[in-house]
Order: sequence, then structure tokens, then C-alpha cells
Amino acid sequence: MAEETIFSKIIRREIPADVLYQDELVTAFRDIAPAAPTHILIVPNVLIPTVNQVEAEHEAALGRMLTVAAKIAKQEGIAEDGYRLIINCNRHGGQEVYHIHLHLVGGRPLGPMLAN
Ligand code: AMP
Repeated sequence: MAEETIFSKIIRREIPADVLYQDELVTAFRDIAPAAPTHILIVPNVLIPTVNQVEAEHEAALGRMLTVAAKIAKQEGIAEDGYRLIINCNRHGGQEVYHIHLHLVGGRPLGPMLAN
């Protein structure tokens, strides 16, 4: 069994977070250390540690993450200018929290895709 992270506590509303959206499959909340004017994390409610653990049974939640990203981008007023969706995986990907999350980042030009 994978170990829970702080994101499971946010999903269960056990610790405070700026939750923008929640349904039976996913939860979306503002990143605590935003890298851009809009920085939102969209996570499956079930714990999947990294993309490496993704199975067919997760497809509904993973698909919902994209639907919710599009909806929130519109709500935040960044859909037309554009934004970036990022999922980091493991050490080389720079993953810090081992509960899959989709970063929705925008609100300014984001520059080249990779820092280096
Ligand atoms: P990653 O490096 O892809 O694992 O991203 C983890 C993200 O989670 C970082 O952008 C953190 O700022 C964010 N984060 C960590 N703890 C919290 C929290 N309690 N509430 C909201 N965002 C968080």
C-alpha cells in the first residue's frame, strides 16, 4: 500500500486548502506556493503515487482531471491566453508529493517548457 500524503488530508477536508472543485473522482485546489498568477493542482481522490502506477481502472479519474482543468482555466479567465498542464514523475521529473497531481499553471507567459 502506498503511503498517504498531505493531499489525501486535503481531499478529506481534514486540513485547510483553497478547494475550487470536488466531485466523486477528483479534487482541485490552489497550490500553496504558486509559480504563476494561476497555479492549481488537480488530483484524483484515490491515491495513485506516480504516473508509473497508473492502471486502466484509473482512466475515469485521469480523464476527469483534464475536463476539470479546462473548466477551471475558463473560470480563472486564462483559457484564451493559454496555460500549461504538468505532471511530474519521480526524481528526475521533480516530483515532491507522491500523489499524482496535474498542475494547471497560467496567468502570464510561461516561457520555454523546460528550465534547462
Ligand atoms: P510536485 O513537485 O509536482 O510534486 O508538486 C507538488 C506541489 O504541491 C508543489 O507545487 C507544492 O507547492 C504543492 N503543495 C505542497 N503542499 C501543499 C498544500 N498543503 N496545499 C497546496 N499545495 C501544496
